[in-house]
Amino acid sequence: MNPITLTFDNGPTKDVTPYVLDVLARYDIRSTFFVLGRNLMDAPSRALMQRAADEGHWIGNHTYMHDVPLGLSTDPDAPEREIGRTQALIGDAAHPDRFFRPFGGGGELGPLLLNPLAVDYLRRHRYSCVLWNSIPRDWDDPDGWVATALRQCAQEDWALTVLHDIASGAMRRLETFIQKALDAGHTFRQEFPRACVPMLRGTPVRSMRALISPS
Ligand SMILES: [Zn+2]
Repeated sequence: MNPITLTFDNGPTKDVTPYVLDVLARYDIRSTFFVLGRNLMDAPSRALMQRAADEGHWIGNHTYMHDVPLGLSTDPDAPEREIGRTQALIGDAAHPDRFFRPFGGGGELGPLLLNPLAVDYLRRHRYSCVLWNSIPRDWDDPDGWVATALRQCAQEDWALTVLHDIASGAMRRLETFIQKALDAGHTFRQEFPRACVPMLRGTPVRSMRALISPS
């Protein structure tokens, strides 16, 4: 049965990330955590990120503030402030491929995600851009997302699913989701499907045109 790759965005959070790590450890599943720079300002939060890395999860960058999507930003300093500053906070915990995941538009893959300056920044600093093909909107459907995710995962040859280790209540259903996915015959793996990685270590490997605002 088709594999699922799990990713967790917008953490780490002290109330939810440890629970997510415990569940993943119980099922021997490795994932990627796309962290926010603003959540790494104190030592306990950075220790939580380090715990994830020590347990075999990969750490990626998901901007510092997560407020204005890069596709809407006209500020020339935004790439350094949002991406560079976060990468510095991730430090040695970062995956060597320097994973970066943009955000915007409620998870739609469209021109809100990036602008030309950001793409140039990612290229020059040799980031890998990691997108997704399954986004069950766990943040606004804390119970119903499990059915949505299972439906999405069944439709993809290899699902790359976005979840959030934030205090929405949704992660209380993580174990149910994993168990149902296993019961349906899915496997879990850590790598990303190639179709979801349009830039690899600074080299564009697929068209990113649909993801970039004109300015
Ligand atoms: Zn996000």
